[in-house]
Amino acid sequence: MAERPRPVVAIVGRPNVGKSTLFNRLARRRLAIVHDQPGVTRDRKEAEAIVGGRDVTLVDTAGLEEAPPETIAGRMTAGSERAVDQADLVLFVIDGRAGLTPADEHFAAWLRRKGRPLVVVVNKAEGRAAAGGVAEAYALGLGEPVAISAEHGEGLGELHARVAELLGPPPEDDAEEAEAQAGRERPLRLAVVGRPNAGKSTLVNRLLGEERMLTGPEPGITRDSVATPWRDPEGRLVRLVDTAGLRKRARVTGELERLSTAETIRSLKEAEVVVLVLDALAPLEGQDIAIATLAEREGRALVIALNKWDLVPIAERDAARRLLADRLEASLAQLRGMPVVPLSALTGAGVEKLVPAVWKAYDAWNTRVPTGELNRWFEAAIARHPPPLVDGRRLKLRYITQAKARPPTFVIFGTRSELLPDAYARYLVNAIRDDFGLQGVPIRLSLRGTK
Ligand code: GDP
Ligand code: GDP
Repeated sequence: MAERPRPVVAIVGRPNVGKSTLFNRLARRRLAIVHDQPGVTRDRKEAEAIVGGRDVTLVDTAGLEEAPPETIAGRMTAGSERAVDQADLVLFVIDGRAGLTPADEHFAAWLRRKGRPLVVVVNKAEGRAAAGGVAEAYALGLGEPVAISAEHGEGLGELHARVAELLGPPPEDDAEEAEAQAGRERPLRLAVVGRPNAGKSTLVNRLLGEERMLTGPEPGITRDSVATPWRDPEGRLVRLVDTAGLRKRARVTGELERLSTAETIRSLKEAEVVVLVLDALAPLEGQDIAIATLAEREGRALVIALNKWDLVPIAERDAARRLLADRLEASLAQLRGMPVVPLSALTGAGVEKLVPAVWKAYDAWNTRVPTGELNRWFEAAIARHPPPLVDGRRLKLRYITQAKARPPTFVIFGTRSELLPDAYARYLVNAIRDDFGLQGVPIRLSLRGTK
């Protein structure tokens, strides 16, 4: 169990090789990610897709590399790198007609270092136009290339077959759903993440009520375990996800810092609710924000454990809470209203409030709003604040539906709805969050045109 929800397939390559064309060809349902915050702009496109018989999240990195080749390395490190690091499989696209360029070789070398499962896709190969490109692609030493034409839909069968081989058969991913329907208990998958020394192990020990894990002042001390099933004080089933066992190996190879990021990402992917442990004496530093942002990207519900509260003098506690609230609002507006539980993992004070906050976030994350209620709400929200004019004409938004939960994902249908300004989409997302009590839960909103 505790399988990851769906594999992530990232499409990478230099500009103009046809990444977006391939993305559009494979995508079924577009998930436009709406962020509340201008700083965290949408830097990549994601869609649900079925590739190689698997339900996957497809990520298009087009636009992340629109720099001249000399500076590609610099541009790649942000968005593409994140996409590749989070991907289970990478489709590396080259232009079979143009042949290999230095930029392709650069990408190839970079991907080789990354060591992710990968398929080299030689695009624009319709009508055998790319025979030369295919031969060159072999020479990259990244495995047998697949020749396709994204534009004309040729060679996709072979691509699906290759992806199926690499991703393997689908897990029994409906097993949990079936169990829930059969009245069996569905555990909540919880990850406890945070910077080294924030107090993760101490908190986990406290929650589990026994010394299952080692603690100590040393960052990244070795410990074992994967997922620990556990009954919370009210008897509900929780699986505590912990991938820290990886650290043992990392220590030996001296790759501790790098791996602990990978480990955090892995935990996030496995979890449904994420508890981010902050050190109350140094709350919300860059690394904390990065972890929270990743959790949001992964679509997880987030609860903050403001740890080491015992070290904050009582007279300073109000100010400390306000400071944190301000920083959260400034840096993580897309998770607005996120629950914050001040506690001391060391003394146990306040820890009893954490688990109820986690279940509340879980319930919000699982929320399904009935379509009728949702549309009554939608009409009122639009009446309160009508969509703006675009090119002198008002956009008509007709209908909203919740496509899925976990996290709550909504689709709005309307004419020319794809032109809806981000600011208006943010208004709707915030209103959904406030009116349906989805604080601390990522909300996905996508827009679809009607003919
Ligand atoms: P991206 O920047 O890598 O995402 O590339 P695009 O998907 O925007 O495609 C770049 C150009 O290549 C566009 O003009 C596409 O129409 C064209 N293109 C994409 N796929 C194919 C293909 O299979 N064959 C041909 N001949 N052109 C293609
Ligand atoms: P991890 O690296 O995040 O797993 O952090 P640990 O659980 O190993 O804790 C790091 C250090 O902080 C240890 O010395 C703990 O005893 C200490 N610590 C953890 N929680 C608290 C707390 O609530 N209050 C205080 N004062 N110290 C704590």
